[in-house]
Amino acid sequence: MIRYHAAWVVPIEGEPIKDGWVMVDSGRIVALGRRAVNDTTRGLELGDVAVMPGLVNAHTHLELSYLRDQVAPASSFTMWAREIIAERRKRMQQSSSDPIVTAAIDAAIDESVRSGTAVVGEITNGLFVTYEKLAASPLAAVVFWELIGFNLKDPKSDGPLLDFDPMVEQAVSDIGTLPPSEKVRASLAAHAPYSVAPLFFRAIKKAVDRMPFVPSSVHLAENVEEVQLLKTGDGPWKALMKDIGSWSHAWTAPGVSPVKYLDEMGFIDDRLLVVHGVQMSNVDLAIVKERGATLVTCPRSNGHTGAGLPPIVDFYESGARIAIGTDSLASAPDLNVFAEVATLHALAPSVPPASLLESATIQGARALGFDADYGTIEPGKLARLLAVDVPPGTSDVEEYLVSGIHPGQVRWIDA
Ligand SMILES: [Zn+2]
Repeated sequence: MIRYHAAWVVPIEGEPIKDGWVMVDSGRIVALGRRAVNDTTRGLELGDVAVMPGLVNAHTHLELSYLRDQVAPASSFTMWAREIIAERRKRMQQSSSDPIVTAAIDAAIDESVRSGTAVVGEITNGLFVTYEKLAASPLAAVVFWELIGFNLKDPKSDGPLLDFDPMVEQAVSDIGTLPPSEKVRASLAAHAPYSVAPLFFRAIKKAVDRMPFVPSSVHLAENVEEVQLLKTGDGPWKALMKDIGSWSHAWTAPGVSPVKYLDEMGFIDDRLLVVHGVQMSNVDLAIVKERGATLVTCPRSNGHTGAGLPPIVDFYESGARIAIGTDSLASAPDLNVFAEVATLHALAPSVPPASLLESATIQGARALGFDADYGTIEPGKLARLLAVDVPPGTSDVEEYLVSGIHPGQVRWIDA
C-alpha cells in the first residue's frame, strides 16, 4: 500500500484536490482525498505535481508513423489524400512487416507512453503486427481493423460485389485468431463514406453488432469534398477516385450530409466513434448526441490536411460526447495528447478546461470500453497515473494542464 502526496490531485470525476493524496494497493486505486493542515500521515511526497489519470488518444494510426514529416501541409483535403496515397503506394501498400514500418510503430508507442498516454484507439490496415506490438507494450488499446472498398468486384460474376458478408465474416474470424490480451481488443472500422460502399457499411455494422462489446469507428464529415460528393455525386473526391481506379458507377449520391447518410443506414449508435466532424452542422451534431456516439476531434491533423478547423465550441455546446485523438504522424507533429488539448483550448478558450480534460481521459476511455479501469482517479480503477510537473503555487491547475504540457514534465507514478 502506498500513499502519494501531491500539490494537486486531478481525479477528473470531481473537482481538483489541492494538497491531495491517493492511496494505491497492488496497482489499484484504493482511496483519495485532501490533506488536512494537521494531517501527519506519512506518504510519498511527489511535490509540485498534478496527479491525474493517464490520457486516452482515441484516434491514431501508429501504423502510419513511418510517414512522419513526409506529407507536407495541404490547402485541400483531397490534395493531401493524393499525396498520402502516393506515399503509401511507394511502400507497397505499407506492408506491415516492413522493418521501417515496424520500427516506426515501436518508436510511436514509446513516444505515446512518454507523453502520458495510457490508452489508444488505433486504426490499422495490418492487424496482426499492430495488435502484437500493442499487446506487448504498456498501452491498453482497441485495434480497429479498417475495411476499405468502394467498387469491389465479385470474383465469380465480375460484376460489382453485392454480398459483403463473407468478406466481413473473414475479418471477424481473423480477429478471432489473435492471441488473447488483457488490455488490447480488436474490432472493425469502416474507413469513410467516400471509400466504403453502402452495402459494405451495412455488412460491417451487422458483424460488429454480433461481436461481444467492442466499439467501432469511422472517419466522418472530415472535409468539404466529402460533403460535396454525398450531396451532388461530384467534385474532387470523384476525380481522385477515378484517378486511382476506385470510382463506382453503380453508386448514386444520397443527397444528404455524411452524418445523415450513415444515420439512415443505422450505422450511428453508442458503440461508434465518429472521427473528425469538421464539417458537421448543428443538425448533424444533434444526431450524434441523440445516438450516443462519441465524436473524436483531431484539430492539429485537420489543420495539416487542409480539412480546416473543427467547430470546437459547437461540438461542446451540442452536448455530444467529445473525445480527443492526435490522428497519425502523417498529419500531426507528435503523439502528445496534451498538445492536442492545448490546440483545442487555443481554438475554443470558452470551453471549460475541465471539459477538455474529460475529453482527453474519461470520454475516450468510455468510448473505447476501458472506463472500468481508466479515465478517472476512483477507488477500484487501475493506478495508471501521471505526475505532471506544475509550477509552485499554481492556483488553477486545470487551466495549466490544458495550456500545453511537454513530455519532459510527465512521469508515470508507478514506474
Ligand atoms: Zn484517421
